[in-house]
This record gives sequence, structure tokens and C-alpha cells, in this order.
Amino acid sequence: MRALLAAAAAGLALLAGCTSTAASGSEPIGDRPVRVTTTTNFITDTVSRIGGDAVEVTGLMGPGVDPHLYTASAGDVDARRGADGIFNGGREREGKMADLLDQLEETQFVRAVTDDLPREDLLEPAPGVAEQYDPHVWFDVTLWEQVSRTIATALSERDPARAGEYQANLETYLDELAELDSYVSEQIATIPEERRLLVTSHDAFEYFGRRYGLDVAGIQGISTAAEATTADVERVAELIASRGVPAVFVESSVPRQTIDALIASAAQRGATVVVGGELYTDAAGDPGTDEGTYVGMLRANTDLIVAGLSRPDSGG
Ligand SMILES: [Zn+2]
Repeated sequence: MRALLAAAAAGLALLAGCTSTAASGSEPIGDRPVRVTTTTNFITDTVSRIGGDAVEVTGLMGPGVDPHLYTASAGDVDARRGADGIFNGGREREGKMADLLDQLEETQFVRAVTDDLPREDLLEPAPGVAEQYDPHVWFDVTLWEQVSRTIATALSERDPARAGEYQANLETYLDELAELDSYVSEQIATIPEERRLLVTSHDAFEYFGRRYGLDVAGIQGISTAAEATTADVERVAELIASRGVPAVFVESSVPRQTIDALIASAAQRGATVVVGGELYTDAAGDPGTDEGTYVGMLRANTDLIVAGLSRPDSGG
């Protein structure tokens, strides 16, 4: 019976697609879940939290996927045609998603979760990068609060009958984000001040640094598509040596050879620096783990940074 109903609904959707371009995107949802597609896995997590039982979420990008480079396949497009909407991280950041978004936009809502962020809160991109702003907004939890409101609004617009449910889920989630924001602030404040320098191989942490009081030095362009130069490596090695920074960090979506070159260059300047571990940047961790959620990803990064930068001098 359920299968029959689903087949009938699919037939109707197909018919609507043939006769009218936007009609299928505005029919009432009724009792069925809202079907949405998401891009990165922490957007998937946030949409799942706000949508709750009312929303069926399909994420395109799993852990370890670099959204700067991700290309949607023809299969992705076909699989997502029947959905009600898609949440993405912005056409700039997920540059190769543009064709998919254009096609889906004919029949469903397409929403960049960053759309409502005030322009003045956005940072400039790294030098030499074509993007209009630094896309890594999720590392400022207060910006992610706005992203969460945007998601709730879009779901409520598409499914007004369940707006109250989305609002309640949003409020619960915002409480959790406020707690997370305090946690990160308090933890970072425990690091000795001169050591509050975060060195990574990818400029993903400018928003994090601005919000939580860390200097940030990347040795690669803001997009993983850019490669580090020898001059970049030497400039950062000099900083590490002068501030006595005991650890640097590699990330899940970036190769580690650049970091190895940095450690060698710091050693030539008499500084002992270790790899503090792998931070999450453009993707959260595995599904079903704490780190697979937005909140867990931020906590894991914070704990790793604090442990690495607070470690005792190894006498370099
Ligand atoms: Zn990135």
C-alpha cells in the first residue's frame, strides 16, 4: 500500500515536472517527511537537528570530502530530482555544484545556508583566492547560529504546517550552540597567551581565530586547490620559532607533506614543534560518532588545539 502510494506520488511529480516548471516545489507536504538534500556533512547534521522527524535528509558529502573540489555526478542529480529542496554551503565555496543547483532549482528550493549572514561579519578571502569572502564561517559558532535560523526559516516556508516544530527544534539547538560557544571561549583562554597561534596547512580558521582570540597562520591558500610555496613555509617557521609555539596541525582533507616541510624549517631555527593532530576543516567526522556532528567537530578541534598548544616545552 505504501509502495503504491509512493509510486502514484512519483507519477504525479513527473507529470507536474512535464507540464509546469515550479508547481512541484510548492505543493503542501502533508503527512510525509520533507525530503531535503545537503552538501557537507555538518550541514547535514544541522539540518537533521532542526528538521527532526519531519525531515528526511540525504547528505552528498561524507567525512573527508573536500567541498572546494567536490563535483556532483549525474547520479547525484538524478537521485535528488524528486526532493523538496537542497541546502548548500554557497555557490562560491562549493564551486563545482553550480550545475546541479541550477538544475534542481527548477523544481525545488535551493538555499545557501550562509545567505543571511551579515556582509560585515564575513572575512576577506586569502590573498590570491578568487572567492568573494572567506567561506569557513562554521568555525564561529555565533555565525552558525544564524545559519541554523536560516535553515529553520527555509523549512518553515516549504512546510508551514510544521513551522512550530522547526522553531522548537531550533531553540533547543541554539541553546546547545550557545553552550558550545562558551566552551570554546573558555578552553582557548587557558592557553598561555603568546602561544595562541594556530598553524595549519589550510586557511580554514580565520573566523575561529577572530571569535576565540587566536592568531592564525596558514601555509597554504584558503582553498585546498592552492599549493604552499617555500616562502610561505619559511615565514611560518619564523613565527613558530619566535613565539615558542609547540604544535602545528594537519587536517583531514589536506595532504601532509607541507606540514613536514614546516617542521624541518622550524628545526633549522632551533624550534621543536610537533604535529598536534588532525583538525576537522571542511568536513566533520564519521557518521554515528560525536565528531560526525557540528558540535562534536568544534569540540574535538578545540580540545586538540588546547592540548597541543599547552604542552610543556620539549626544550627545543
Ligand atoms: Zn576550506
